[in-house]
Amino acid sequence: MKQVYDITKWFADKLDVHDDLLVRFVKPHRDRRWAACFGDKALDWNMVCLGRKFFDRWYEHPARLIKHILHELCHDGGVKHLQEKFEDRAFWHGANSVMLAFLQGNKIPHFRLVKKHQREHG
Ligand SMILES: [Zn+2]
Repeated sequence: MKQVYDITKWFADKLDVHDDLLVRFVKPHRDRRWAACFGDKALDWNMVCLGRKFFDRWYEHPARLIKHILHELCHDGGVKHLQEKFEDRAFWHGANSVMLAFLQGNKIPHFRLVKKHQREHG
């Protein structure tokens, strides 16, 4: 979970959403269907919905992890799914992530694990 924490913080910082984003791992008792949630400068990961394996073996599905992070960062400031701003942000976060990967890919925390996994498992 520390690795997912670091990666979440890195994207929030580099995409200029929040350099002081609070990242939490929660186990909600009710309404467990949401994977992650953003609100009030905090991103909550739902451990009940995603399961421990999602966090421990994130390097097997890095795009899924990044997709969740970018989606949640689009909610910054209370922006909702159907607002035009949400879609606009999604495209900008996607485009900026490609540029970050191109220019700073080696600095993404723990991504050496993705490369190692790809080498070993194709
Ligand atoms: Zn959402």
